[in-house]
Amino acid sequence: MTGLAKVWFVGAGPGDPDLITVKGRDLIAKADAILFAGSLVQQAATQWAPAHCAIKDSKDMTLEQITDWLIAQAQPGKTVIRLQTGDPGLYGALIEMVQPLDKAGVAVEVVPGVSSAMAAMACAVESLTLPEVTQTVILTRVEGRTPMPEGESLRELAGHHSTLCLFLSITLLPTIERELKAAGWTDESPVLVVHKASWPGEQHIIRGTLADIRERCRAAKINSQAMIVVSPTLGARHWPDLKKSKLYDAGFTHRFRRAEQSDS
Ligand code: SAH
Repeated sequence: MTGLAKVWFVGAGPGDPDLITVKGRDLIAKADAILFAGSLVQQAATQWAPAHCAIKDSKDMTLEQITDWLIAQAQPGKTVIRLQTGDPGLYGALIEMVQPLDKAGVAVEVVPGVSSAMAAMACAVESLTLPEVTQTVILTRVEGRTPMPEGESLRELAGHHSTLCLFLSITLLPTIERELKAAGWTDESPVLVVHKASWPGEQHIIRGTLADIRERCRAAKINSQAMIVVSPTLGARHWPDLKKSKLYDAGFTHRFRRAEQSDS
C-alpha cells in the first residue's frame, strides 16, 4: 500500500472509552501503532486496536523519544496514532510534537476530542453558558511551574465573571480563592470540582463555594485529575427565575421558524 507517512493526533476524550469520536475509534480499529498518554488515557481506549498493533505508553518518554518513535512508525500506508486525553489542542503539547514531524516530512492530522471541561459540566448537568448570566467560557489554568503570559493572570480573567474552567490547578485552590475574591467574586460563589469526569466507577462530583471548596476537596482526598469550574451558571437547574434563551421563544423569528402571530 502506498500513501504519505502520516501521524494522527487523536483526542481520546475525558476517560469514558465511549466518549471518543467515531472517527477516532475507526482509526484505532485499523491502527498499526498507537502511542498513548498513559497518565490519563485509560488503556481501555486501545481496546479496539487490531491484534498486530504496536501499543505503547508514553508516560516515561521525553518529547524527543515520543516524536522519534512516531517518526519511526510512520511508514507510508501505516496508521499511526498519538492518542491524547480530552482534546489534543488543550494542554496537550500538540505543536511541540508536530514541529519535528513537519521537519521529518511526516504528514499530520488532528481528530478533536471531548475535553474534560465539557465532560465535567455534562456529568453535573450544568451549562457552560446561560442567557443573561454569562455567554463566555474561559479555559485556563492557574500559574504553577508554567508561567502565565501577560494579561492572563487569574485575577484579570476572573474579572469578566464568566465561566472559568480551570485545568491542572487542583493543588492551587488557595490561590484560586484569593485571586477570585480579589476580582470581586464572593465567598458564596458556587464552585464545581469533578475528579475523573466520565471515568466509569471513579468519577467524583464535589460542589461547594469559593469559601469551602478547598476543605471539601481535602475531605474527599481529591488532589489530582480534577476539573474546577467556577461559574455564575452553576446550580441553575434549581433556579425558579431562569431566563430562557431566545432560540425557543415563541415570539422570536429565526431562519427555521416564524414567530407566532399575536392576537392584538
Ligand atoms: N487535553 C485535556 C487536558 C489535559 S491537561 C482535555 O481536553 O481535557 C490535564 C488536566 O485536564 C488535568 O489536570 C485536569 O485538570 C484535566 N482533566 C483531564 N481529564 C480529566 C477528567 N476525566 N476529569 C477531570 N479533569 C480532567
